[in-house]
Amino acid sequence: MLTSICGINWGDEGKGRMVDLLSSDYDVVCRYQGGNNAGHTVINERGKFILNLLPSGILREDVVNVLGCGMVIDLKHLTEEMGRLREAGVKITPENLKISDKAVITMPYHVRLDCLEEERLADKKFGSTRRGIAPVYSDKYMKKAFRMGELFHEELLKERVKDIVEWKNLSVVGGYRSEPVTVEETLAYFKQYGEPLKPFVTDTGLYLDKAHKEGKKIMFEAQLGALRDIDFGIYPYTSSSSTIAAYAPIGAGVPNLKLDKSIGIMKAYSTCVGEGPFTAEYFGEKAEKLREAGGEYGAATGRPRRVGPFDAVASAYGIRCQGADEIALTKLDVLSGMEELEICTSYELNGKIIHDFPFPDVLTECKPVFEKVKGWNCDISACRRAEDLPKEALDYIRMLEKLCNCKITYVSVGAERDAYVKL
Ligand code: GDP
Ligand code: MG
Repeated sequence: MLTSICGINWGDEGKGRMVDLLSSDYDVVCRYQGGNNAGHTVINERGKFILNLLPSGILREDVVNVLGCGMVIDLKHLTEEMGRLREAGVKITPENLKISDKAVITMPYHVRLDCLEEERLADKKFGSTRRGIAPVYSDKYMKKAFRMGELFHEELLKERVKDIVEWKNLSVVGGYRSEPVTVEETLAYFKQYGEPLKPFVTDTGLYLDKAHKEGKKIMFEAQLGALRDIDFGIYPYTSSSSTIAAYAPIGAGVPNLKLDKSIGIMKAYSTCVGEGPFTAEYFGEKAEKLREAGGEYGAATGRPRRVGPFDAVASAYGIRCQGADEIALTKLDVLSGMEELEICTSYELNGKIIHDFPFPDVLTECKPVFEKVKGWNCDISACRRAEDLPKEALDYIRMLEKLCNCKITYVSVGAERDAYVKL
């Protein structure tokens, strides 16, 4: 059984909390793309955790967690994240954490280049998380990146370090006029942060394929949402990797396997971190109210998230990109107490109404068309069954299902693991 948990919107839909909840039935949880630019918040009986690189299954003792080959891994960040979790009593051993030998390493100079480029762009910046993600994925496709498995081949690694450092300085020194990267610091970095991680490194493709053949249940955890996918998102304001479910078997290391199910995580309203077109955006007081109600500040960066009402045009597109079979709708409790709710049901482009998400460049010319529905005035955070929910909340859910043509099977009404309703 292979299930993907993926984001329908711009990210921060609550994927981490849904993986934490739904992984009770799974043997393996695998991250398949992205790096430590992810911020997945999980709250359960063990405490509150913000996960950047580790899969959200790490908090379940009997789940094996995999960092797949589609990921980029900042060794220092991973070491510190593992340290933080261990301090909180979470067990992490090579038995329950496996890192792909083909995963790419994010180097300190990638982080530096990310910052240098954002500074160079100034007010044209992309809103990068400055964690080196775009530079490291670029190097991957330039075939100038290091992979985890190289840590086992010291002599070869030394040779490559020399070549890559020389090449890297062409842009670091020649282009950005920054301090050169040195061979010594690069080798020292591998020694300090790579060496201790070696016991965790393995051929995770082989491991996952075997696990699947033994009948184990595998869950893939996406970072970011469909609208940040490198191909299908709001390019160039996207991430640098494939966030979509169809990529999960590839980024995990099992391109031979097919997904059985794709569960889309969709937020009851819209949020977006960073730059880029965000058609149904709220501003001023309206935005402030929603941002405060939802606590919309980035888990990885602390940046205030941009907010807006539910966008059916973007979400229907996200559902299509993710091939979602069903939807978990998150943060419905945040909308409680609003007399009236707006839903963006279509866009107006050059005087015409459109329902299909357009080429990103024209998004700035699109105007959101809102429909108003009645809100509910009571707290729903204690609801655990569909019949506990007020009629207006159920009507809202049904309207989203209809607009997006996809069944909503879970609704979350709080950040804690058990704060949800199964429909
Ligand atoms: P992810 O990146 O998709 O895993 O999502 P984040 O963790 O970045 O953002 C989701 C935020 O909403 C986190 O702070 C969660 O603790 C919180 N959250 C998740 N589900 C709910 C919910 O149903 N209600 C409320 N109020 N908060 C939630
Ligand atoms: Mg997040």
